[in-house]
Amino acid sequence: MGLFAGKHEVKVGDMVYAWTTDKGVAAKAECGGAVTGLLKFALENKLVDAVLAVKKGYDLYDAVPAVISDPKDIDQTAGSLHCGSILLSKMVKSFFDGASNKKIGITVKGCDMMGLIELAKRKEINLANILMIGVNCGGSVNPTTARRMIQDKFGVDPDTVKKEEIDKGQFIIEYEGGHKGISMDELEEAGYGRRSNCRRCKYKIPRQADLACGNWGVIGEKAGKATFVEVCSAKGADILSKAISAGKIATEAASPKGIEVRGKTEGAMLKLGEKWRKKDFSALGPNLWETIAKETGRCIKCYTCIEKCPVCFPSAEMLKGDSYMVKRGLIPADPMFHLRRFAHISDSCINCGQCEELCPMEIPLALFSHAVRVECDMNYKPKLGKAEYTN
Ligand code: FAD
Ligand code: SF4
Ligand code: SF4
Ligand code: SF4
Repeated sequence: MGLFAGKHEVKVGDMVYAWTTDKGVAAKAECGGAVTGLLKFALENKLVDAVLAVKKGYDLYDAVPAVISDPKDIDQTAGSLHCGSILLSKMVKSFFDGASNKKIGITVKGCDMMGLIELAKRKEINLANILMIGVNCGGSVNPTTARRMIQDKFGVDPDTVKKEEIDKGQFIIEYEGGHKGISMDELEEAGYGRRSNCRRCKYKIPRQADLACGNWGVIGEKAGKATFVEVCSAKGADILSKAISAGKIATEAASPKGIEVRGKTEGAMLKLGEKWRKKDFSALGPNLWETIAKETGRCIKCYTCIEKCPVCFPSAEMLKGDSYMVKRGLIPADPMFHLRRFAHISDSCINCGQCEELCPMEIPLALFSHAVRVECDMNYKPKLGKAEYTN
């Protein structure tokens, strides 16, 4: 451990309540500020060359990626933006040349983490140079849906909202003149709430990251003031040990009751995810191909779904629209354009929702590829491309 040697060593499997000792970070953080505190510590001590995280852009419905190399700038990334449906994985390729020569620290939700693992399998990024600080994730809300939901269901002008959070199954807003919470179940039954892929998602605690951080299970006097950290890898144990020894992060053992609460909450979220899968997949009807052909009939072949997908790396020829069969600009796209794409990605679709989120024609693409992926995983052996995580 060298410079940071001390008695505060943590090991893989440990579960602790952790909080930053940096007052500036603590003031902006979502709960204990352990995530930002650790990223700041990693930058200050050159354990990473840069950090890729998320910060508020124009307003709280506008989550934008942030590349930070000066530790003084990291505070602006503290806090959770639940109306930010951004995926960071592919940016490691575009911003950092796949972390080939630089060490990068990244905040990852389950989908960001899976995207990184899929990119590493394709040798597009170097996972050895990446520190993944995971955040638990109950789901995110599309920014446009969030604005409509706040206007229609809360009766509040979305531009007056100062803070939003998702807590104990409620979407809660603080706005000029008050605060209000409505149960997520009620919002989702009414067609609002989390994105459809998030409802089906089962990566609630990102244990393939180096650390998994969240607020589930922080109870008693530490509630709201500490981050629940599960140590998931030797790399995660190392940075947390060093930060504790340097006095940048304080910890105490998670209470057994808190661990139980966290386990129960995770279990309930997984059940809910299964319920949504059943509902969404059965609504596709008995002839999935017919449904896909009908819905994709309005595709304008803009290629956004291809360019943003973390498991899809088309050749330069394909992107130019110069492959044998796929010509850019020929619209309407023939259904085989989509069949070819599904054939390419459906064994490893991570249900991140980016294709669906960004499709200008509002085609439910993630629903289709997720349905195919889940069906394949359930009914065919060997399991396709899922060594590291469980879908
Ligand atoms: P901070 O020090 O405040 O750091 C937060 C980090 O999250 C920063 O690095 C920031 O850049 C990053 N971030 C903010 N918004 C996003 C985003 N949209 N996508 C990716 N990164 C982002 N915890 C639970 O226990 N249960 C949940 O149900 C839950 N749902 C969440 C849903 C979302 C969309 C997000 C972003 C987080 C969620 N969390 C959840 C995690 C929780 O909100 C805190 O991030 C976590 O407890 C760490 O707290 P902290 O004070 O240490 O984080
Ligand atoms: Fe969170 Fe899963 Fe949605 Fe990603 S897909 S934002 S991990 S709920
Ligand atoms: Fe077609 Fe939508 Fe993909 Fe664009 S994003 S190519 S419109 S399916
Ligand atoms: Fe994500 Fe869509 Fe690609 Fe699946 S197909 S990994 S949901 S962008």
